[in-house]
Amino acid sequence: QDVLLQVRGLRTRFRTDHGEVPAVNGVDLTLRRGRTLCVVGESGCGKSVTARSILQLVEPPGRITGGRVLLHPDPDAGGADTGDGHAPRTAPPVTAEPLDLASLGPKGTRIRRVRGRDVSMIFQEPMASLSLVHRVGNQIGEAIRVHTPVSKKEARTMSVGLLGQVGIPNPERLVDAYPFQLSGGMRQRVMIAMALSCRPRLLIADEPTTALDVTTQAQILDLLADLQERRGMGMMFITHDMGVVAEIADDVAVMYLGNVVERGTVDDVFHAPKHPYTRALLESIPRMGGPRRDRLPAIRGTVPDPAHRPTGCVFRDRCDSAMPGLCDTVDPPPIDVGGGRRVSCLLYGGAGDRTTGEQDGAQ
Ligand code: SF4
Ligand code: MG
Repeated sequence: QDVLLQVRGLRTRFRTDHGEVPAVNGVDLTLRRGRTLCVVGESGCGKSVTARSILQLVEPPGRITGGRVLLHPDPDAGGADTGDGHAPRTAPPVTAEPLDLASLGPKGTRIRRVRGRDVSMIFQEPMASLSLVHRVGNQIGEAIRVHTPVSKKEARTMSVGLLGQVGIPNPERLVDAYPFQLSGGMRQRVMIAMALSCRPRLLIADEPTTALDVTTQAQILDLLADLQERRGMGMMFITHDMGVVAEIADDVAVMYLGNVVERGTVDDVFHAPKHPYTRALLESIPRMGGPRRDRLPAIRGTVPDPAHRPTGCVFRDRCDSAMPGLCDTVDPPPIDVGGGRRVSCLLYGGAGDRTTGEQDGAQ
């Protein structure tokens, strides 16, 4: 009903000297309107590649080798002015049926149209989307004018409005500044303003606060949570930090070595984590009211090289619950454990004599 984007069985591989290496290995995700899905895992788990694959932004030698990315139609397409200073959309909806983004050419006009008006992406490094040497207002204005038939003057006024919405003080003055004159936090706000200029239904944020100091990080998280709610956008937020997940997620997908190993609502996953990897990630954040620790316990070992995926469960070398003779031979399928939760671990679903190993169903 309120599904915005469904990722089903997504696979992305990179060609290397040692053959093709899977970075994304059959990922399933569901994003809903007006909700924030956090994709969490250590670096190297395939989170960023998943995000980039959704928008066909994977560069060679990477390529999508399977799966679907279904963007559902916008029920409000062509609807009324949302009161945020933008003219109502005039163009017809991209499609009435879900559009499989994975089937579109990465450079074609259709995917560019999706990137420009349905789904926006922001990155850890704002300069990935901004030019240092063009005025902030001109950059946002140009982004607006690609999709909205307004004059330069109107686009400038809209840019000022957007800068105000992302909490930039004195937007009338800042609209004429150059990004190199701004602090990291301010640049990040400008990048967010630019991403919002096309009024996306879905915002994909890839660790947008990781490079910022703690105070600025908290401000940007607040801003994104606020914008997400006010605009009723879906948001996919990528992070390695369970503390950030606790802060802004409605739903969580835990990724490990190119797979989603657990997914569910943030309340369910935090109160009753099922996958040993999820538990380990949760133990790595300090608990409120819990014993103070001088150092956070890290998960022992490291994420294996995707070129040398272990047989059986990909987490087995680091898992305290690993069952010898089982976890090193059986690749755990996703098991429905009720309440919309899925876990890929042989501790669940009657390991050994499992008969209910439900595969990816339609949702
Ligand atoms: Fe640990 Fe086995 Fe579960 Fe993998 S399948 S997470 S090794 S218990
Ligand atoms: Mg990353």
